[in-house]
Amino acid sequence: MGLKAYQKAGQKCRKNALTLFTQHNNLDSEDMEDKIREIAEWIVNAKSVVVFVGAGLSTESGIPDFRSPGGVWDKYDPEDFYFQNFISNETAREKYWQMATEMYESMKDAPPNAGHFAIAELERLGKLDCLITQNIDGLHFKAGNSEKKVLELHGTAMHVTCLSCNKRYERDDIQTRVAAGQKAPRCDTCGGLLKPATISFGQSMPERETAEAYRRSEACDLFMVIGSSLVVHPAAYMPVVAKQGGAKLVIINRDETACDGMADIIVNGTAGPIMAAILEKMKQRIHL
Ligand SMILES: [Zn+2]
Repeated sequence: MGLKAYQKAGQKCRKNALTLFTQHNNLDSEDMEDKIREIAEWIVNAKSVVVFVGAGLSTESGIPDFRSPGGVWDKYDPEDFYFQNFISNETAREKYWQMATEMYESMKDAPPNAGHFAIAELERLGKLDCLITQNIDGLHFKAGNSEKKVLELHGTAMHVTCLSCNKRYERDDIQTRVAAGQKAPRCDTCGGLLKPATISFGQSMPERETAEAYRRSEACDLFMVIGSSLVVHPAAYMPVVAKQGGAKLVIINRDETACDGMADIIVNGTAGPIMAAILEKMKQRIHL
């Protein structure tokens, strides 16, 4: 979607946001407008904005939150998918690929929503220090964020890596092989085990991304949480680090979060329309 289409969506979204706020929070629209205006003002004045994104943003693109009731983890036993099992057992690998294929099918064609576009727009306007995401669906890139700005804490489902030689594959290419009957595909180059480039249970967090995310959180002066209830550690500790470093904390989420007590502004509602409204206000403020 180009900028014009985004702006059009933004205008429509802003209208929706007003309704949604009122529905979710019983806020009168003036209070909501005040919050949106204030957040926009903070972004304009901030030297360094870090955005932290969770599953809540992608559910608005139709991707299920795999951890929520009725999600994939209700159907499968997470214990079957520990990284150690994947390494040691062919049956576990086949089962893993079956589950991973189901997850991938639900996200591969999902479109980014207004929230993703708003974050991409922040980057375009030079207002994004970095985007820390717990999502594995690659929607930030589809929306226009660049690789150098995005830290994927839980890896990505859009690629597959060889666990022996680290060769990287496009996910679609490997899924074609799975569809053709390879139940647990292996590396062309070295014969090693192929696994989607996501972080599994029992697998350590990516070192570079995690360290960088903490560093940026600590150094920023505005930390925005979007669509995360902040319960998954260690990622959920980042808002705390940001606050300790002196940043303002904004939380935009449908429900309560673990960090509400320390937030400077909390907006309960649907992230996409809210972010679109904030961006629109911000652009008015800087006369774009
Ligand atoms: Zn290999």
